[in-house]
Parts: sequence; structure tokens; C-alpha cells
Amino acid sequence: MLRTRNSRTKRSRTRTGAVALAGLLLALLTAGCGKEGSPPVKGPKPEALPHYKVDTGFELPGSTTWKKAKRRGHLVVGAKEDQPYLGEKDPATGIYSGFDIEIARMVAASLGFGQKAVQFRTIASANRETALQNGQIDYYVGTYTINDMRKKLVGFAGPYYLAGQGLLVRTDENDIHGPQDLDGKTVCSAAGSTPYQRIAADYPKAHLVAYDTYSICVDNLLTYQVDAVTTDDAILLGFAAKAPDEMKVVGKPFSQEPYGIGVPRGDNALRAALNDALEANEKNGNWKKAFEATLGLSGVPAPKPPPIDRYPAN
Ligand code: GLU
Repeated sequence: MLRTRNSRTKRSRTRTGAVALAGLLLALLTAGCGKEGSPPVKGPKPEALPHYKVDTGFELPGSTTWKKAKRRGHLVVGAKEDQPYLGEKDPATGIYSGFDIEIARMVAASLGFGQKAVQFRTIASANRETALQNGQIDYYVGTYTINDMRKKLVGFAGPYYLAGQGLLVRTDENDIHGPQDLDGKTVCSAAGSTPYQRIAADYPKAHLVAYDTYSICVDNLLTYQVDAVTTDDAILLGFAAKAPDEMKVVGKPFSQEPYGIGVPRGDNALRAALNDALEANEKNGNWKKAFEATLGLSGVPAPKPPPIDRYPAN
């Protein structure tokens, strides 16, 4: 697992700020979160979620991934566990929830796997490609941007959502309004992510630090170790919605991040079946219902899903 820097190495630097915020952090912690830095889990109401009809007669003999899962009896799906309203794991029950999780479940049903036959495994941004290449997971749904570089390593179904890079700061921050204000500021992102790569390439005067997850970045933001957290607006809005007195999202999105379902590269039959499943669920209303019950809770109205990109086998 990639760990660029330990989350506690810089703790002592701005002690005053840290002490001032300790109370707030404590309030957040006692509000029911499982571990330091992660917001309290307040998942979607189960009754608001759609029911996905399991296609019991479904067969996909052209997909080695599907056949392996069928023999095993369940799918193993890679996901995130600390991204509010997108992919969250309840530390008490181990149950995953969020928009990405619903996407994973709705397409699983189309592939013939009911909710009990979908096992989630948390995989950090930096480890997604290897997890798919090693067969650790059958597919991945976790704020995974489709791009040409990644398409050389894995396949993508979708996109099923269009996000854009943004900035999360503390509510007491008045100097940062966009990436142009990051010169000399410490900005945190996840290793192996496109937002990290964009800051490194386009804003070299920003002091960039990387951790495995965005929740560690948020922890560091709240204790004044970093000045901003950068990743997709969809992720940042969720963190801000859970602690609106502490954090805010500033400026306009400054990239396009089309979210795809990652599949093992070369399994084009699986990719096509997932695209069919996404399209069907967008048509029958499940996509919108799932969005409103999850990511919609961070204040984002349900957009029109982006068109599916059925790119030729590469
Ligand atoms: N969508 C971006 C990416 O795939 C950032 C979010 C993430 O790290 O999952 O790199």
C-alpha cells in the first residue's frame, strides 16, 4: 500500500490552531464517527433506495471475470469507505453505502448478482489498477476518473457521473478561492489521484502533500496541518455537508472527472454488459432515485447522467 507520508509527522507545527480546533474535532468525533478524521456515518435511508431486479437468467460466457465470480458465488467489488454519500463503510456494521455503492449494486443485479452476492473491498486510489490487474476485485466503483492513461492499464464502463476538481478549506480561510491562490499554501490530496497529478503539473508553487485517503487530508485540514484539500467536488461537498461549520468548498470546478466502473483490461464483454446495465438503470429511473437518496444529500440536485462511452476494444 502506498503511504507517502505518515498522518502524524507534522502534527506539532501549528499547535495553537490545533488546540483551538481540538474541541470542534472532538465534537465531530463524538458525533459518532468510527475513527479520527472520518465524518460520522449518516447513510441514506434504506426506504429511499431503489430495489434492483436481479436478472437470474443472465449469462456472460465471453467474460472471464463474470465466469469466475459465478463459480465463486459472489462478486468482489472495489470501493472507497470514507467518502461521504459516495462510498462509506459503517464501522459498526461493516455495511457500505453511497452513490458509488448503489451503482455497484444496480449493475451487479443486471449481471445476476443480488445484494447479498456483492462483497465490497476497500481499495485506495493509488492501488486501483493493481487490484484490477491482480484479480483482487472483479470491478471497481469509487470516484474513478476515466482517462487515456488509465485505459492502458484497465477498462472502463460508463461514465455514470461527471465531477470536477475543487478545493475544500476551513470556514475561517479567506485567501483561497481557486487553484491560482495555492502558491506557497499546503494542499493535500490522495496519492495516485488525478487531482494530485493536476496540482503537481499545473500549480508547482503549491506545497503538495499526499496521503492514502481524503479523510486523512480532512483530518489534517481541521488541525491546521494543511491549508486546503483538493479532489473532486462530489467528494468535497460530502465532507463539507457533514461539517458545514468547519469546512467549505470554494471556487468553480477546474477539471472534468468522468466517473467510470473500472474492469480488468481486455474483458470487453464485461465492459459492454456493464454499459448495458448502466443505460438500463438510467432509463428505468433507478439511477436518479439512487442519486437522490445518496449524493443528493450533500446538496447536489440530480443531473442528467453523461452519455455512455462505448469505446472500441483497445
Ligand atoms: N476522480 C479522481 C481520481 O480518480 C479523484 C478521486 C479519487 O481519488 O478517487 O483520481
